[in-house]
Amino acid sequence: MPRYDFRCRACGDTFEVDRPMAAASDPAACPAGHEDTVKLLTTVGLGARGAAAPAPSGGGGGCCGGGCCG
Ligand SMILES: [Zn+2]
Repeated sequence: MPRYDFRCRACGDTFEVDRPMAAASDPAACPAGHEDTVKLLTTVGLGARGAAAPAPSGGGGGCCGGGCCG
């Protein structure tokens, strides 16, 4: 079951909730009972799709960086 991180905007606490994905967007009250919480983005290992994309390094044939295009 995926785990979701929440942060309480009332007391600033962060907490984790284990819940099915179908209920991922349901509100969750913090351990102190506040209901003003926001769900944080979590890094769940669902298959690192596009996680390791290499950063463009330039020098691959583009010339607009060297002033030769105009
Ligand atoms: Zn709270």
